[in-house]
Amino acid sequence: MKILIVEDDLMQRRFLQVMLTQSGREVMVAADGEAAWDILQKERIRIVITDWMMPVLNGLQLIQRIRAAELPNYTYLVLLTSKSAQNSIVEGLKAGADDYLIKPFDRNELMARLAIGERILKLEERLEQMATHDTLTNLLNRRALYTSAQTELNRSVRENSPLSLIMLDIDHFKSVNDAYGHPTGDKALCLVAETLLQNKRDYDLVGRWGGEEFLALLPKTSLADTRMIAERFRAGIEAAGLHMPEGRSVKVTVSLGVSSTASGSLDIEELIRQADEALYLAKSAGRNRVCTYAASGESVS
Ligand code: GH3
Ligand code: MG
Ligand code: MG
Ligand code: MG
Repeated sequence: MKILIVEDDLMQRRFLQVMLTQSGREVMVAADGEAAWDILQKERIRIVITDWMMPVLNGLQLIQRIRAAELPNYTYLVLLTSKSAQNSIVEGLKAGADDYLIKPFDRNELMARLAIGERILKLEERLEQMATHDTLTNLLNRRALYTSAQTELNRSVRENSPLSLIMLDIDHFKSVNDAYGHPTGDKALCLVAETLLQNKRDYDLVGRWGGEEFLALLPKTSLADTRMIAERFRAGIEAAGLHMPEGRSVKVTVSLGVSSTASGSLDIEELIRQADEALYLAKSAGRNRVCTYAASGESVS
C-alpha cells in the first residue's frame, strides 16, 4: 500500500521517508498540498500522512479536497501536525482526517496508528473483492462485468478500436446437475471458469454473467480474432472434461455467441443482446459451437 508523505519541512520529510521506507513500505513525498494533489491524480495512493501548515495548499485544504473528490478507493488520511489545541484536533477530524498525531511524535505510536489504517484498507479491499467477484468461480460478477463493459466501450470509442464480446452458455447443464448432482455441476462451472482464464489474453476480462452463462470482453480485438479466441474457449472446455472421483470423465461443452462494435453498434446493452442472439443461434444449430452476430440480421456460424 503506497503511502504519501506531505510535509514542507525538508528535514522532517526526509526523516519520515527514511523511517517508513525502512519499515518496508512504499513511500512517495510531496512538499505541499498542491504537489500532493498532483501525485494523487496519477498514483494509487492508499494512505496520506500530511502536515497541516504548508505553503500553496495546506494540509486541511488537501484533506477537504480529497474528501470532496470521492476518489475510486478510500484514502486513509493522517494529520501529523504541531497544532495541538483541542479545537484544532476537532477541526482536523471534522475536515475528514481519519487520525490526528501531534508533533513531536513517537515512532512506535505512528507505526501502530498506520497499522490501524492498513487494517481498515485491507477490510475495504476484501469488501470490494466480494462486491465484484462471484464466490463460486472467483471470476468477475455480473455487476463488475457490466461496469467494465461500459468502461471498455468508452475507451474503444475514444481510441477508435473495436471492442468484442463473447457470451458463453454451458450445454445441457441441467442434465449435468440431474445426472451427477449439484456439487458436480458446481465443479463444471469452475472448470469452465479456469479454462476461460487459461485461454484469455492478459487484457481480456472474463466473468460469470449468470447461472451457467459467462461473458468475455475483448478490447482492441477484431471479429475474426474474437471468433478464434471463442473457438479456443470452446475447444479447451471440450478437451478438458470434468474428472470424476471414480476416474470417469464427464464431457462438458459450451455454445458461444460473438458480437463486436466492428459490426456497428456502440451501445453496451445492444452488444450484449447481439452476443446473446448469436449464442441462441449456436444452440439451435446443434450446440458446442461458435456463432457470430451479423448486422444483416442473420447470425453466422
Ligand atoms: P442449454 O443447452 O439450452 O443451455 O440447456 P441447459 O440445461 O444448460 O439450460 P437451462 O437454462 O435449462 O438450465 C440451466 C441450469 O443451470 C439450471 C440450473 O439449475 C443450473 N444452474 C444455474 N446456476 C447454477 C449453479 O450455481 N450451480 C449449479 N450446479 N447449477 C446451476
Ligand atoms: Mg509545515
Ligand atoms: Mg443459460
Ligand atoms: Mg445452458
